[in-house]
Amino acid sequence: MRKKTYLKILLSLLLLCLLLFGSYELMNARSYQLFGNITNSIETDEKVVALTFDDGPTKNVEQVLHLLEQYNAKATFFLIGQDIEKFPEETKAIIEADHQVGNHTFSHARMIFKSPTFIKEEIDKTDELIHEAGYKGEIDFRPPNGKKLVFLPYYLKLQEKETITWNIEPDTFFTTPEEKIDYVLEAIHPGSIILLHPMYDQSGDELQVIEEILKALTKEGYRFITVDDLQTLE
Ligand SMILES: [Zn+2]
Repeated sequence: MRKKTYLKILLSLLLLCLLLFGSYELMNARSYQLFGNITNSIETDEKVVALTFDDGPTKNVEQVLHLLEQYNAKATFFLIGQDIEKFPEETKAIIEADHQVGNHTFSHARMIFKSPTFIKEEIDKTDELIHEAGYKGEIDFRPPNGKKLVFLPYYLKLQEKETITWNIEPDTFFTTPEEKIDYVLEAIHPGSIILLHPMYDQSGDELQVIEEILKALTKEGYRFITVDDLQTLE
């Protein structure tokens, strides 16, 4: 092979690697996307944080709402359309307790390598269900597994929908309630957005994590507010 051809192949391979790496980073980035607004936390001196619960609703809603009420806390629930259809009463209970509701797609499929029509339907159908349940106001979006590439953010921008991610994710790194709580208390700072998954938990562990977070941070002088309210402080 001639030296020049060899060099060309080498450069093309390098470029391909960079492209793949870039797409991967883009797909998973918590605070960057190609179009529209994305928020993973906000800068504030006020001692406020946002608890966000992904997936569901399920029967666990009742216990979560009860805990929140005890600590005078407001939270944000990113709900899945097909679960809203299964648990309409739980959906209404969240709305009636004045928490924020967000869109987490209809089927929880990853919104990458999917057709624009599929993505649009996943978002529109879920918005409709949330509104039918009585929710007023704008509906923020959180992508399943935090994954997004090109069309999803483009469509969200067209719809003037904000993407909300998080900066504290105990479930990603730890398994026991103790580890998760320690990590949250260590990582916390004013304006943080915490991601938790109590909806399909059968063990009660995630509820324990929520309760301990509520208890410990309340003691430290924190208030728990919705993502919407957090954003008014920016
Ligand atoms: Zn999810």
